[in-house]
Amino acid sequence: MPQGRLAVVGLGPGDAALMAPAARAELDRAQDIVGYTTYVRLAGPFAPGQIVHESDNRHELQRARAAFALAAQGRRVAVVSSGDPGVFAMAAAVLEVLDTTDDPGWRAVELAILPGISAAQAAAALAGAPLGHDFCVVSLSDNLKPWEVIERRLEAAAAADFVLALYNPVSLARPWQFDRALDLLRRHRAAATPVVLGRDVGRPGESLTVTSIGAMRAAAVDMRTVVIVGSSQTRTVARADGSSWVYTPRSYRDVPPGETG
Ligand code: SAH
Repeated sequence: MPQGRLAVVGLGPGDAALMAPAARAELDRAQDIVGYTTYVRLAGPFAPGQIVHESDNRHELQRARAAFALAAQGRRVAVVSSGDPGVFAMAAAVLEVLDTTDDPGWRAVELAILPGISAAQAAAALAGAPLGHDFCVVSLSDNLKPWEVIERRLEAAAAADFVLALYNPVSLARPWQFDRALDLLRRHRAAATPVVLGRDVGRPGESLTVTSIGAMRAAAVDMRTVVIVGSSQTRTVARADGSSWVYTPRSYRDVPPGETG
């Protein structure tokens, strides 16, 4: 049996120009493309001989197992993720399956992870440089971890004065969590602290909103939004068109009292 290959490919935020050439090349030579419908569409178009396996976003481990099963038959398989496949995405699911399988065929598969530009990076670039100093990345989804863990992490990160990039901020199944998170963050930040909302970054209908922790409302975000909440140091500077750049300076000054939590 020829050895198969399983590549976990980061598509970047959506715009083909923001996909790494290595990712594009991997997709072009894949025989099978496995992924959530929306992401598979972003990865195309595909040649007639390439087989596309679309699946529901919730079943990451199932999808990873399906990909191993194909690759173990000797096929060249690409599993696609939006952004970076290592950030709340398929790379960890694929490694978890590798970690728990006893199948020597699956263990023999050649595995590669191809990075992509993550949503927070793409949104940060549109806004300026809000991630210019230390930052934390937190998913607000409590599908895969208890809400108490999320609150504890937000509390610790806010108390330590990190800039926060929040993924999966809100969904129909999680109506109150984002408000709770905002209340918690407001206890640690001045009302004027800049907040960046990047929605559908790199995709049709892309939007960027610069607001503040005091003014922002949960209704302004959805699952297609990444939220960046500034630290005590994050500030804005006017753009020529009257809107604002947001940045966090390279050097840390003015340590606010009580920020050690
Ligand atoms: N692996 C992805 C993240 C998957 S989690 C990455 O690295 O970007 C899904 C969450 O990512 C969404 O709920 C949203 O918060 C964010 N996200 C992904 N793509 C986005 C985009 N193009 N614009 C804004 N947010 C995005």
